[in-house]
Amino acid sequence: MDYRIKNRWALVGGASKGLGLGCARALAREGAHVVLVARGAPALEAAAAALRADPEVPAGTQVLTVAADITTPEGRAAALAVRGSAYDIVVTNAGGPPPGDFREWDREAWIRALDANMLTPIELIKATVDGMASRGFGRIVNITSGAVKAPNEILGLSNGARSGLTGFIAGLARNGKLVSAGVTINNLLPGAFDTDRLRTTLEGAAKKTGQSAEAVAESRRKTVPAGRFGEADEFGATCAFLCSAQAGYITGQNLLIDGGAYPGTF
Ligand code: NAD
Repeated sequence: MDYRIKNRWALVGGASKGLGLGCARALAREGAHVVLVARGAPALEAAAAALRADPEVPAGTQVLTVAADITTPEGRAAALAVRGSAYDIVVTNAGGPPPGDFREWDREAWIRALDANMLTPIELIKATVDGMASRGFGRIVNITSGAVKAPNEILGLSNGARSGLTGFIAGLARNGKLVSAGVTINNLLPGAFDTDRLRTTLEGAAKKTGQSAEAVAESRRKTVPAGRFGEADEFGATCAFLCSAQAGYITGQNLLIDGGAYPGTF
């Protein structure tokens, strides 16, 4: 299926690795021009070079980079400046907050989590949606977490910040002026995906319990009905579909991609 997003412009946060890169790759393979944002220039440039050399990315597709911290006003300004805020697609994403005990988190820790996982997506949306509406097409996809539906106690900073974003999006995504002008806003909720973030979490758990990282990974895999971790490209494929012309009637949704791990009916 042709997703009809060739030559659209997409901004993708946290795009040098993991799920953000999976989304950028899938969008670029559909012929959308992509602007990749990540903090570390070497990994970012390597990711961009791989996309430019990808035989499935159509010739003429632009792959640009911005080495910046998307959670800061300066970083967002640099990312938005590439297109003068005129993006057709925005995938909001940054690293998740650290795990821990809520007794150890002070106000600063909460502000950092809220900045990264709630306020940064809201600021990016604020800067881009009205322009999208005026041009008659827009897609916002927020990478949140399966923890929004099934919270994990040690990820309290993530549970709190992402729930705030989810509540905000639930209202905005149903704004008649935006939806009738072709702008949709949806959240993608990853379960366990084979990325650096998951590997670091598993290594942390291994150290705590004295097990090997592979033993911890194996018992985690057993909690997933699919019997495996997800791949970033599977995540990216779903993101590209939500950004397609065909997905114009889908807005305000929270889509879990978790290999069946969430046990509820809704
Ligand atoms: P990852 O660590 O593999 O990749 C994160 C990417 O974001 C990297 O490119 C990194 O450079 C970039 N990044 C981090 N902070 C940034 C910042 N402030 N500014 C710009 N770029 C930044 O992580 P991932 O597994 O791809 O996770 C992406 C998001 O999904 C995270 O918020 C994570 O908490 C969430 N998540 C992941 C999983 C999983 O299993 N992988 C599960 C649930 C939720």
